[in-house]
Amino acid sequence: MSELLYGSTRGTGERVTASRAILKGLADDGGLFVPDRIPALPMSMGEFSALSYQETALAVMGEFLTDFTEAELRACIDGAYDSKFDTEEIVPIKEADGAYYLELFHGPTIAFKDMALSILPYLMVTAAKKNQVGNEIVILTATSGDTGKAALAGFAGVPGTKIIVFYPKDGVSPIQKKQMVTQKGANTFVVGIRGNFDDAQSGVKAMFGDEGLKQELDAHGYQFSSANSINIGRLVPQVVYYVYAYGQLLKRGIIQDGEEINVTVPTGNFGNILAAYYAKMAGVPIGKLICASNENKVLFDFFRTGAYDRNREFILTSSPSMDILISSNLERLVYKIAGNDAGRDAALMRELSETGRYEITDAMREELSDFAGGFAGEEETEAEIRAVYERTGYVLDTHTAVASSVGRSYRETTGDDRKMVIASTASPYKFTRSVMEAIGGKYDGMEDFALADKLAELSGVPVPAAVEEIRGAEVLHKTVCEISEMRDVVRSFLGV
Ligand SMILES: *Cc1c(COP(=O)(O)O)cnc(C)c1O
Repeated sequence: MSELLYGSTRGTGERVTASRAILKGLADDGGLFVPDRIPALPMSMGEFSALSYQETALAVMGEFLTDFTEAELRACIDGAYDSKFDTEEIVPIKEADGAYYLELFHGPTIAFKDMALSILPYLMVTAAKKNQVGNEIVILTATSGDTGKAALAGFAGVPGTKIIVFYPKDGVSPIQKKQMVTQKGANTFVVGIRGNFDDAQSGVKAMFGDEGLKQELDAHGYQFSSANSINIGRLVPQVVYYVYAYGQLLKRGIIQDGEEINVTVPTGNFGNILAAYYAKMAGVPIGKLICASNENKVLFDFFRTGAYDRNREFILTSSPSMDILISSNLERLVYKIAGNDAGRDAALMRELSETGRYEITDAMREELSDFAGGFAGEEETEAEIRAVYERTGYVLDTHTAVASSVGRSYRETTGDDRKMVIASTASPYKFTRSVMEAIGGKYDGMEDFALADKLAELSGVPVPAAVEEIRGAEVLHKTVCEISEMRDVVRSFLGV
């Protein structure tokens, strides 16, 4: 097998191995790492249909991460996809109301980020060993809620790593906060800041760029790394479940071998849907990739007009993990439709950072025919949760409901009736209040855990362990700091 190397979307410069790309996160020129080519899947879909999730992961990831040995990858996969998932299938597929919901939320934090963040720590530690990095890896993350907990759960107790998470003290939901501050593991550190998410994010970015701090850390045997969604170590594990989903539909006789399916993905940073696109390019028979947005419909507008424009009001919705105006991973698609032209990609990204807007050419737009865009507003999202529940008893979370609604309109307006897989990105128990109110009812006085019990009665799905665990859990992280104190907090945790 020839080695697959990764280059930057913004430069023609050096190419690095997969393990280097995982360690670095971002290329030196600020671009994202992309593989030189998308590898073809190593076996037929029929053969994949006989594999477990872990076996599928090994076969798919081996093609992308070619400098990892099979034994190394197997160890990473076995460490990640084990009993911390509450089902042996890892990602079950549920049929409801004419669609196939790919449940990506059976991991420790009951949202799809677990799919990648449960394996990233293992990939990173392995990559560090392969590259003779002697330092301990310190993951530094700012979170608006979901990523922080998923990263904590992934890195907790992983030897050779420490993780520090900054969250806006008053900017996350009570359950999200409780999930983070009760995190166990001596290598974890959770800090509330007096500021908003942007402040936390800027503070973290400033530390990454601080050469003095970097040297100080190095002298004490530490180096920073990032777990954010542009790391190819997060992207590649997400390709796996689209291959697995197709295999499972085939195995169950729902589709014929070679039959195309459509995939609808509730989208924020464009990571999940990009993984589906890579799966298609690798050989999974996927027809359309339907990109579902909430009211922050910057991607819908992009697919409709060819103009990406973040100059608009930021809307807080009931699907907060999709409240994003800069979809970082879109850059990888832009690079591709620009004919892998790093100069053009860099120019567009410069325009985005200077003016908040860029427009692609007609020729580039023609390259987007694999995609369709759609969006669902708050009322449509609520109506979708209610309608699916009333017709089938199946309860969708708010993010999945956005996709479900968009997928439904796509089918109705185009008449394209290929079987549809909907990426189901969170358990309804993560957004219990919105979900319960959508199903019908007023729960003003009821606290969140009581509401979860109520949802269990309605749905017949037991309250997940992830929620039960934090019900009475002890608060272990009480540090709160000013934005200006973030560096000192890091120093004191690391003892440097
Ligand atoms: C992060 C997230 C998304 C968006 O995924 P992207 O890969 O950023 O597009 C959708 N739903 C949930 C529940 C998420 O946590």
